[in-house]
Amino acid sequence: MFNKILIANRGEIALRVLRACKELGIETVAVHSTADANAMHVRLADESVCIGPPPARDSYLNIPQLLAACEITGAEAVHPGYGFLSENARFAEILTAHGIAFIGPTAEHIRIMGDKIEAKATARRLGIPVVPGSDGAVTTDEDALRIAADIGYPVLVKAAAGGGGRGMRVAMNEAEMSSALSAARSEAKNAFGDDAVYIEKYLLKPRHIEVQVLGDGQGNAIHLGERDCSLQRRHQKVWEEALSPALNQEQRDKIGGIVANAMAELKYAGVGTIEFLYEDGEFYFIEMNTRLQVEHPVTEMITGIDLVNEQIKVASGAALTLRQSDVTFNGHAIECRINAENPATFAPSPGTITYWHPPGGLGVRVDSGVYQGYRIPPNYDSLIGKLIVHGRSRVECLMRLRRCLDEFVVDGIQSTIPLFRHLVDNQDIANGMYDIHWLEKWLATNP
Ligand code: ADP
Repeated sequence: MFNKILIANRGEIALRVLRACKELGIETVAVHSTADANAMHVRLADESVCIGPPPARDSYLNIPQLLAACEITGAEAVHPGYGFLSENARFAEILTAHGIAFIGPTAEHIRIMGDKIEAKATARRLGIPVVPGSDGAVTTDEDALRIAADIGYPVLVKAAAGGGGRGMRVAMNEAEMSSALSAARSEAKNAFGDDAVYIEKYLLKPRHIEVQVLGDGQGNAIHLGERDCSLQRRHQKVWEEALSPALNQEQRDKIGGIVANAMAELKYAGVGTIEFLYEDGEFYFIEMNTRLQVEHPVTEMITGIDLVNEQIKVASGAALTLRQSDVTFNGHAIECRINAENPATFAPSPGTITYWHPPGGLGVRVDSGVYQGYRIPPNYDSLIGKLIVHGRSRVECLMRLRRCLDEFVVDGIQSTIPLFRHLVDNQDIANGMYDIHWLEKWLATNP
């Protein structure tokens, strides 16, 4: 096992990783930009290193500075959290070349899954159902029209290098194809420096359902059930729950089994998430994330398994000790992403938190790096905390969530808590009847 881990991240996830390290008796090194000198992850770590000025490219994305921080502290492994360098194959490669363990999969697996065309081809080869579409990149308009006619309109033109919902355009019919192609290409070129695009059937009312996997790189892999992340705004998740209210145990076992077998065959190491769209009883792979996800706590709440602890053990070379039969699902969990934003316009609201009173009690978890008197810097994303609530049933979970949202007080800045107070009282949400377009439609009619 490692003696010392450097956490190459900030905010709530740096704290989350730090907690797992402490429980394993591993020393922690925090890194921070000058804007984060007072952050909680810095205060709680055994050691800390300032790695640069506020812009992320000069600090949290600065590979030479991170390597230097490893060297001066003697850290043997790096946990990348999510975002920043967590899916950067080059970072994983450079660390490995320097004899420092990257707590995540191999650089090769990160690279394959980072290219959506290659990811889809790999998924198909491993027996995972994918969205019908082009076999690879589409270069000419004639090819695009032929493929679209084959799969049937509407279709979605997507960037191979896509992420964050960018480089995607819908074409409802043949007439819209040419402009969808050129718009997706130029957006992809601008955002990612790569204009390769592919075509998929555009699903009209799917849910976003993702399966959590854990592998040891030695041919053992299990799944930890699914999360339903259909409540999205601009393709960004807002509310996540486990298990999905839309699946039954038979469907869960089937898709979970397919995915676990695929990851075993790939010899995948660490945690990962296979994302699907789900419509009319069918699953369609869209992408794989080769890292810990923001919403991982809902899975932890219903399984009792600490995913970061498992990640660290696997990265140290240990084989999986958990078997599929050790994974059981207990009750229901919901996570709300609390952002420092105006709850109606979603404009960022950085500033000083003058009062902070998080909820507590049975089945309640608040993952957050902020505290009373903390000044939120304007340089990073607006997530200030996650409220995760567990109940023995979905109904109990919703009742508890409503109580927690009433208790939660954040003063000095605006937050998205009022939005969740509306959602928890909504009848469609109570019934679990929502797809990926539900929230945007609701927001448009409830200003
Ligand atoms: P990104 O990597 O940019 O987040 P994804 O491929 O994960 O892109 O898709 C993000 C979201 O876009 C999905 O959760 C879903 O809401 C929507 N989406 C993606 N592909 C399709 C599709 N074929 N049909 C309908 N919606 C889609």
